[in-house]
Amino acid sequence: MNVARERQLSRRSLLGGAAATGVALTGAAAGTASAATREADVAVVGGGLAGLTAARDLVAAGKTVVVLEARDRVGGRVVNLKLANGGVTEGGGEFIGPTQDRIKALADDLGVATFATYNTGKNVLYKDGKRTPYATDGLLGSVPPVDLAGLANAAALQAMLDDMATKVPVDAPWTAEKAVEWDQQTFETWLKANAIIPSAKFLLDVACTSVFSAKPRELSLLYVLFYIASAGNASNPGTLERLTETANGAQETRFVGGSHQVPVKLAATLGDRVVLNAPVRSITLSGGRYTVTADGVTVSARRVVVALPPPLASRISYDPLLPADRDQLSQRMPMGSVGKAVAVYDTPFWRADGLNGQVVSDTGAVRSTFDNSPQDASYGALMGFIEADEMRAFDSVPADEVKAAVLKDYVTYFGDKAKSPTSFVLQRWDNEGFSRGGPVAYAPPGVLTQYGPALRRPTGGIHWAGTETSTYWNGYMDGAVRSGERVAKEILAAL
Ligand SMILES: Cc1cc2nc3c(=O)[nH]c(=O)nc-3n(C[C@H](O)[C@H](O)[C@H](O)COP(=O)(O)OP(=O)(O)OC[C@H]3O[C@@H](n4cnc5c(N)ncnc54)[C@H](O)[C@@H]3O)c2cc1C
Repeated sequence: MNVARERQLSRRSLLGGAAATGVALTGAAAGTASAATREADVAVVGGGLAGLTAARDLVAAGKTVVVLEARDRVGGRVVNLKLANGGVTEGGGEFIGPTQDRIKALADDLGVATFATYNTGKNVLYKDGKRTPYATDGLLGSVPPVDLAGLANAAALQAMLDDMATKVPVDAPWTAEKAVEWDQQTFETWLKANAIIPSAKFLLDVACTSVFSAKPRELSLLYVLFYIASAGNASNPGTLERLTETANGAQETRFVGGSHQVPVKLAATLGDRVVLNAPVRSITLSGGRYTVTADGVTVSARRVVVALPPPLASRISYDPLLPADRDQLSQRMPMGSVGKAVAVYDTPFWRADGLNGQVVSDTGAVRSTFDNSPQDASYGALMGFIEADEMRAFDSVPADEVKAAVLKDYVTYFGDKAKSPTSFVLQRWDNEGFSRGGPVAYAPPGVLTQYGPALRRPTGGIHWAGTETSTYWNGYMDGAVRSGERVAKEILAAL
């Protein structure tokens, strides 16, 4: 192999080195954009959990694969942020919970251990300027203690939503009997008609914003029902509670060493099949093969997996053009607006105050928080979500101003000890060029019923993966893994 080209490839590959991987290397001299052409059965675009899982399964079945990842790291919406004290904290996807079987199985395979999210002590409700710590082991579970009428109304709404969700097939929500009726209204419209007590509306607003990082006015009711249905597995129907809860819910468990361990270890098993710093710009079909052109590397492949959220998939140029419905789908599914702010302290001091670090609030930049301390609690970390309108308001604000606003909230929720963290990290997903928001690309009204079938339907030899294509745990790490497994099966059946 040309030595210069070998160096270039090794610079771009995850582990360095250009050890043989079963992928043929051909092409012109190094140093130009088209310097290296790699041939493979399958080119995978995107080295998040979805793309990496697809690659793992394809490689296991004997196929040659190249994964092209735009960033200088794998994991996409899952990333560990380094802390000044040498620790790490999750900047994106973090928690897993019951029925999220596929991410758990993957982590187990890779030897990434889990531990329970800290959930001992009282939650804090901050509403109408009043701070109320409340126990979560009573009859109401973790439901914030609003007035009785609001609690009753919220419980009825939850039961209605769960029931309606049972009528939405997770593999084709657009076929639900009431799909059109439910898809022509926002979740806000439905809430306004059914949440007759203001505090019940507050509870559902908070639940919605914390699940989607989007406000009820932005989401189709059908999509919300689909998402609830999706929060389960083949033997456990999804529920709203499973989406929102810590105990027995999607926030129940964390990964030792941070969630990023999972994609990093998975990528390591793929060696230099994974090429970093390789944003894909175009996918062209010619003579029965796809030419996938990324910065500095081109892959010639029989099939392509695009494992990106729909709005990012549409930033790639396709020749021939994608079918109109697929392109219009990706024009219509925006990312939520989200950031995470983590303040680090010498100790998780709120624990000694009888608090579990979880807050529900109706005001401030941060309206929900978690205790993000490591398993051994060798230091304390408070993680706050900045979501939807609040995130949009802070997208362009200097980081030190965001920090000041966040710490003001933390002091309101946890007292003066929160004022002076030893360090502070901020991850604003809206400003990330290869995510542009999170946690998920969602569907406003009219999208699922008009364009839903285009989500997963392959376009010739281009197959679509990513958490947004998953039936179960759509929007979550588990959904990303499921989508990778599904797309690999799809391709193996075809090749
Ligand atoms: C703040 C936040 C909190 C979250 N919390 C949780 C949680 O607690 N639990 C949970 O299960 N999930 C959570 N999620 C969601 C979870 O992170 C995602 O569902 C999951 O990581 C999506 O994986 P993916 O592989 O489908 O997509 P991604 O992770 O987005 O992967 C796509 C990859 O493609 C790359 N890419 C983009 N464009 C190109 C291009 N043109 N060429 C090549 N590569 C490209 C990206 O860099 C990225 O690596 C959260 C997400 C965020 C942002």
